[in-house]
Amino acid sequence: MMQKVYLGIGTNLGNRENNLKEALNMIEAHAGKVRSVSCVYETGPWGFQSDNSFLNIVAEISTSLSPFELLGRLLMIELFIGRVREGEGYKSRIIDLDILFYGDEIMETKALTIPHPLLHKRGFVLVPLLEIAPDLVHPILGKTISQLLADLDDSADVVRVGKLIR
Ligand code: ADP
Ligand code: MG
Repeated sequence: MMQKVYLGIGTNLGNRENNLKEALNMIEAHAGKVRSVSCVYETGPWGFQSDNSFLNIVAEISTSLSPFELLGRLLMIELFIGRVREGEGYKSRIIDLDILFYGDEIMETKALTIPHPLLHKRGFVLVPLLEIAPDLVHPILGKTISQLLADLDDSADVVRVGKLIR
C-alpha cells in the first residue's frame, strides 16, 4: 500500500543548499518516491538562539514503508548527512527530517507522533506546505493548510529564497 507522506526538511549548518539536495537524493533512494518539492524558504532560528538561519523545504513523497520504518530511514539519513558534513560526531541541525503527515494517520507514541505535533505552530512548515498542499486537511484539527496558516501569526519572517536546482 502506497501512502502519501509530507516531510519537513530543515538545515542551518554547513552548505545548507547542498544538505537539502543530499537529503532529497537519499530520501528518493531509501525512503520513497519524491512527488513534489516546495521552494526553499529561509527563517531565523526558531525556539532557540543561534547565529545561523534555517533553510526549509517540504516534500511530498509516496512510500510503502510503515511510519516506523520511514522514521528509521529518516534517522539514518540524518546521521549519514551529519557525519559526512562534520567530522566530529552528530550535529542534528545539519539536517532535520520530520514526518509532518502520513496519509490520514494519527498516532502518538514515545518515538513518533503523527501528524507532527508542532507543524501547525510553525510558519517555516506551513508556508512551504501551502505551496504544494494548500487544501490538505489536518486529520486532528480538521483545518486546511491555508486555514492553519491564517490562524498563525509567526509566518512573517519566512522568506522565499527560490527553487532548489537538483
Ligand atoms: P525536532 O525535529 O522536534 O526539532 P529532533 O529532530 O531532535 O527534534 O527530534 C528527533 C526525534 O523526534 C526523533 O528521534 C523521533 O523519535 C521523534 N519524533 C516524534 N515525532 C516525529 C515525527 N513526526 N517526525 C520525526 N521525528 C519525530
Ligand atoms: Mg526532527
